[in-house]
Amino acid sequence: MRPKNAQIVEIVQETSAVRTLLFDLDLDPIPGQYLMVWVRGVDEVPMSISYRNGISVQLVGEATGAIFDLEVGDSLGLRGPLGNGFTLTGDRILLVGGGVGAAPLALLGEEARKRGMEVATLLGFRCCDDLLFRKRFESIGELIITTDDGSAGICGRASAGLTCLDLREFDQIYLCGPEPMMADVIERCPGMETKIQASIDRYFKCGMGICGSCAIDPSGIRPCVEGPVIRADRLAGTEFGRYRRGPSGLKR
Ligand SMILES: Cc1cc2nc3c(=O)[nH]c(=O)nc-3n(C[C@H](O)[C@H](O)[C@H](O)COP(=O)(O)OP(=O)(O)OC[C@H]3O[C@@H](n4cnc5c(N)ncnc54)[C@H](O)[C@@H]3O)c2cc1C
Repeated sequence: MRPKNAQIVEIVQETSAVRTLLFDLDLDPIPGQYLMVWVRGVDEVPMSISYRNGISVQLVGEATGAIFDLEVGDSLGLRGPLGNGFTLTGDRILLVGGGVGAAPLALLGEEARKRGMEVATLLGFRCCDDLLFRKRFESIGELIITTDDGSAGICGRASAGLTCLDLREFDQIYLCGPEPMMADVIERCPGMETKIQASIDRYFKCGMGICGSCAIDPSGIRPCVEGPVIRADRLAGTEFGRYRRGPSGLKR
C-alpha cells in the first residue's frame, strides 16, 4: 500500500506533551486501527487513529518531535487504516486506558454510544495536566480518573480505580495503555479473557506482517496485522506483560 498524502488542516494542543493533528481526508477507520505515519526524511511510525480524520501524538523522540514541528498546511504520508481494530459487542462495556492510550478508546466509546451501548471509562494519568479527552469521555458515559500524584480523581495507578467497578458486570472490556496496566486488568479478571480486547504496543517496522519485528514470543502473533487489538486469551503464556523486543530484536 502506497502512502496517501494528508494535509494538516488543524492542530489541537491537548496537553503539554500531546497534540492532535486533523487531516484533509476521512480515514473511515474501525476504532483501534492504526496508521503508519511517514514523516518525510525522518521515519515512519505507527499511530492509532483518534478521530475519523486525525491522530493524537505524544512527543517522545525524533519522529514525534518532527511531527510537533509541523504546522497547518504541512503534510504527512499515511498508510492505512491498518490492522484489526476493536470489535464492539454487548450492551455494557468498559474502556480502560492509560496516558496516550486514551486516543483510540475515545473513538471507540463514541462509536459505542452511537450504537446505544452503555459505556463506562477508567483512565489513568501521571497528573492532572496529562488528562486527555476528558470531555469526550464524559460525553459518552461514566468516567473514573486516576492520577499517580492524586492531582485529579483517585490517587494511584489505573488499577486503583478498578476497586470502584464490578468487572463482571461488563459484557466486554477494552484496554489500551501501558502494558503492566493492561496485564494487571487481565489478571484481575480470571475466566473473562475472551471478553477482554487489548491494543498491543510493539516495535512496528513494516506494518504489513513481513518483517517480524513486532512478533510476540512464542506464539508468533504479529500485532501489526493480526492486531494491534488482540483478545486476552490469545496473550496467555506469551511475552505479554513480561518483556518486548526493541528495534534490533533484543529483549527489553
Ligand atoms: C499500534 C500502535 C499505536 C500507537 N499509537 C500511538 C498514538 O496514538 N499516539 C502516540 O503518541 N504514540 C502511539 N504509538 C507509539 C508511537 O509509535 C511511538 O511513540 C513513536 O514511534 C515514537 O517515535 P520517535 O521517533 O518519536 O521516538 P524514538 O526516540 O524513536 O523512540 C522512543 C520510543 O518510542 C517507541 N517507538 C519508536 N519507534 C517505534 C515504532 N516504529 N513502533 C513502535 N514503537 C516505536 C519505542 O518504545 C521507543 O523506545 C503507537 C504505537 C503502536 C505500536
